[in-house]
Amino acid sequence: MVVAAPRLLGMVSAQSVLESTFGYDSFRGQQAEIIDTIVKGGDALVLMPTGGGKSLCYQVPALVRDGTGIVISPLISLMQDQVDALAAVGAKAAFLNSTQSAEERSRVENAYRAGELDLLYLAPERLRVASTVSLLKQGQIGLFAIDEAHCVSQWGHDFRPDYLQLDVLHDVWPDVPRIALTATATEATRKEIAQRLKLTDATQYVSSFDRPNIQYRIEAKAQPLQQLLTLLNTEHPGDAGIVYCLSRASVEKAAKFLVDNGIPALPYHAGLDSRVRASNQSRFLREEGMVMVATIAFGMGIDKPDVRFVAHLDLPKSVEGYYQETGRAGRDGLPATAWLAYGLQDVMQQRRMIDQSGGDLAHRRNLSAHLDAMLALCETVECRRVQLLGYFGQESAACGNCDTCLSPPESWDGTVASQKLMSTIVRLERERNQKFGAGHLVDILIGKTTPRVTQQRHDDLATFGIGSDVSEQDWRSVVRQLLAQSLLTVQGEYGTLAITPESASVLSGGRTVKLRREAPRKARGSSSAGGAAKRKVMTDLPESATDLFENLRTWRSGVARDNGVPAYVVFADATLRGIAVTKPQSLAELSEISGVGEKKLETYGTAVLAVVAGESLESVSAVAAVAEAPAAPGSGDENDIPFYGDDDAPYDGPPEH
Ligand code: ADP
Ligand code: ZN
Repeated sequence: MVVAAPRLLGMVSAQSVLESTFGYDSFRGQQAEIIDTIVKGGDALVLMPTGGGKSLCYQVPALVRDGTGIVISPLISLMQDQVDALAAVGAKAAFLNSTQSAEERSRVENAYRAGELDLLYLAPERLRVASTVSLLKQGQIGLFAIDEAHCVSQWGHDFRPDYLQLDVLHDVWPDVPRIALTATATEATRKEIAQRLKLTDATQYVSSFDRPNIQYRIEAKAQPLQQLLTLLNTEHPGDAGIVYCLSRASVEKAAKFLVDNGIPALPYHAGLDSRVRASNQSRFLREEGMVMVATIAFGMGIDKPDVRFVAHLDLPKSVEGYYQETGRAGRDGLPATAWLAYGLQDVMQQRRMIDQSGGDLAHRRNLSAHLDAMLALCETVECRRVQLLGYFGQESAACGNCDTCLSPPESWDGTVASQKLMSTIVRLERERNQKFGAGHLVDILIGKTTPRVTQQRHDDLATFGIGSDVSEQDWRSVVRQLLAQSLLTVQGEYGTLAITPESASVLSGGRTVKLRREAPRKARGSSSAGGAAKRKVMTDLPESATDLFENLRTWRSGVARDNGVPAYVVFADATLRGIAVTKPQSLAELSEISGVGEKKLETYGTAVLAVVAGESLESVSAVAAVAEAPAAPGSGDENDIPFYGDDDAPYDGPPEH
C-alpha cells in the first residue's frame, strides 16, 4: 500500500480545493504562500487590504487540514452570512453565539465533537467562558484564524478587550497553527498584534495597501448634504454606498435628507433598537442600490463586494479609521469613490473633543497625533494616495486617480494673511483681554459691521477691515489650515482661537506659511474622471452581454430572496459578467467560469443555462436551496452588534454654512 506524504497531499489539495470548491483557477497575490504555511502547520500574520482575498487564506487550509478550522470573528451579526456563503460552495460551517437556542447550540457542539465541521465561527468573548475551551478540547482543531486582528491593539482604532484573551490559544494548543488577519495596520500596530497574540515567530505577509480602483477625493465643506446629493446624482445613481457621520443626530438628518430627495437610504447607529439595526443591515446587504447612513459603529466585517462609494460627512479621527472605512468601497475591484467633505468646524470640534476627553496626557497626545495625520492628508497638495500609503510605510508614485492628481491644487503664500489674523487675536487679548471664535475674527478682518462688532467697538481695532481683499470663505480656509498646522489652537467650550508657541515665528516674519488654495466648489477634473470611471465599468461589458447580465441579475435577486441570503452569496457580479460574456451552452462550459465551483454548478447550473438560453425568468424555477445552515437566522440581541467609537461623539451641531 502506498501512503502519500501528507505534505505533498496537502499542497495538491489546496489547488484542487480552490478549483473544485471555490471555482477559481489560481491563487491571488500571496495567498498560495500563506496557505502553504498554514497547511504545513506554521503560523502567519497576514496584512492584506480589503478585497484582497483574506478569507481563502484560512478557508482553504481548513478544508485541506484534518480537523475543524476555528475562526474568531468579532461580528456575530455577520456569521450567518459567512456560514451561508460557505454552505453555498458545499463546505460544512457553523457558528456558536448567543442568538441560538440551547437546542441549536448543542446540535452545533455535537457536530463539532463528531468532526463533521470544516469551519466553526466564534466571537472572541466566547473564549472567556470555560465551557467553550472545554468543548474545543473535545474535538480536533485544524487551525485558528483570528480575523480583524487589529482589534487586539490598544493603539489602534477599534480595540476590543476580548481580543486580549486570545493568547490562551497558543498556551492551550501550542501545536495548532494560527493565522491572524487584518486589513489595517501601521508598523506599530503590526508589532503590537504579533506581541499580544504571541505571534512574534509567525511569518508575516504584508501585501500592498493600495486599492487602485478607489478614487480618493477630499473637498471643502460648504453645504455638505447638497454636495453629497450632487455626487450621488451625477456619479452614482442607483449605486449602493455608505455615508459616515460622527453623531446619531447627523445620521438621522442625512438619511432623511437623502430619502426626501429620492435616494433609498437607511440609518444605522447605536441609538437604534437592535432589531431595527439588524433589519437595516440586512436590507443594505440584500437590496440593490441601498445607501447606508451610519456612524462608524457600522461596517466592520461587512463584505458586500459592490459598495460603489463611501462618503464621509465628518472628519474621521485617524488615517487608520479613514483607510478602513473607505476600504469598504469597491471590494470587487471595479471603480469606486471615497469622498470626504471637510471644514473648519471639523477641526475645531475634534481639537475640542481631544482637550475635553478623559484619560492621561499620553492618551490625549495619541489622539492628537492621529488627528494631525488625518489633517495632513486633508491639506496635502501632493497625491492623496502617496500620502495615505506613506502613512502605512509604503512608498509609491503619484497615482492619477485622486483629486489632487486629477486637478492639482494651487498653493499660495499665506504668510501675510496669517499675520493679519494672528495680530488681531493678539491685540484683542492684550488690549482688551478678549477672546473670540473664528466667525467674529473673520468679521473683523473683512470689516463687516455686525451688531457684535459695533457693540464691542471692534471697528476701532487697527486690524479692522485689513483683510477685505480675501473672501469670507477663504478666511475660513486660512483658519482651518492654520489649525491643521498647529499655528493656531482652539480653547474652551466656545471654541475661541489662540496663538501657539509656533505662531511667534510667523508673526515675526521668520517663517512663511504655504496654504492650499481652495478648489472651486466643483473640482475641475474630478467629476469628469468619475464619469470616465463609470464608462469604464460599462465598457467592461460588451453591448451584446448587457441584456443577459441584467436578466441574470434579476434571476439572482429572486434566488437570493427565496433563500434569504445576500445576492453575492449566490454569485458575485464578476461571475455573472463572466457568464453574460461567454454565454455557456453546457454545464461543462459553465463550470469553466471563475466563481462556479462544483456545488454551485449542481445547485444553479440548470437554471443559469436556462436564463442564458433566453427562457422567461418565471419558468426558470429557482428551487435552488442554499444548503441548510445549522444555525438560526441572526435576530440580534444586545451582544449582537458591538458599538464603539460612537458614544463619544458629543457634537450634534448643524453642518456649517
Ligand atoms: P477580504 O476578506 O480580504 O476583504 P475576500 O476574502 O472577501 O477579501 O475576497 C474578496 C473577493 O475576491 C471575494 O469575492 C472572493 O471570492 C474573491 N477572491 C478571493 N480570492 C480569489 C482568487 N484566488 N481568485 C478569484 N477570486 C478570488
Ligand atoms: Zn493621486
